[in-house]
Amino acid sequence: MEITLTQGDITEQQVDAIVNAANSSLLGGGGVDGAIHRAGGPEILAECRALRAAHYGKGLPTGQAVATTAGRLPARWVIHTVGPVHPDPREGAELARRTELLASCYRESLRIATELGARSVALPAVSTGVYGWPMESAARIALAEVMEMGRTGGLDEAIDEARFVLFGADAYGVFERVLQELSHGP
Ligand code: ADP
Repeated sequence: MEITLTQGDITEQQVDAIVNAANSSLLGGGGVDGAIHRAGGPEILAECRALRAAHYGKGLPTGQAVATTAGRLPARWVIHTVGPVHPDPREGAELARRTELLASCYRESLRIATELGARSVALPAVSTGVYGWPMESAARIALAEVMEMGRTGGLDEAIDEARFVLFGADAYGVFERVLQELSHGP
């Protein structure tokens, strides 16, 4: 499995599956979630509503993921995951717990991608928008988790490309630096 970085819009990616930084209601929101529903059309929301009615009346728990069709998007599937809100710095123990939940978003999303048979997956920087997670910390958590899964999660066989799609040059630069560091040391 190759980890790649692209600057751009996740809705335009020619991949088998794209990951959505959804909220637990699954009923759409702003940021990347809004962009995916706008570009993908009403079919995605209809499936989200059905999933909600059948399984997630109380909302999709943070750190979990679930797949729907991708509607009009070039991808075949959208994998919706709910990132954690970045905790207040005064809530010490919360940071460790929510860091694990953010890693879980990537782990669960890639697990579902593998189940679906997706060979290429595009991933956004979950939690770094409205949920306020600092980009550098989010990049470390995301890249370390996906690298670890590539090494030990059996994904090397199942997925060819995990493509992080960063919105803007700043986010791209941060991911590029952190990937370099984690691959080769600082
Ligand atoms: P969250 O609620 O998990 O913080 P957001 O959607 O607010 O999710 O933001 C997550 C990240 O996705 C942010 O870095 C934001 O800049 C980025 N983003 C927003 N729109 C897009 C898009 N169309 N493609 C890729 N990334 C996007």
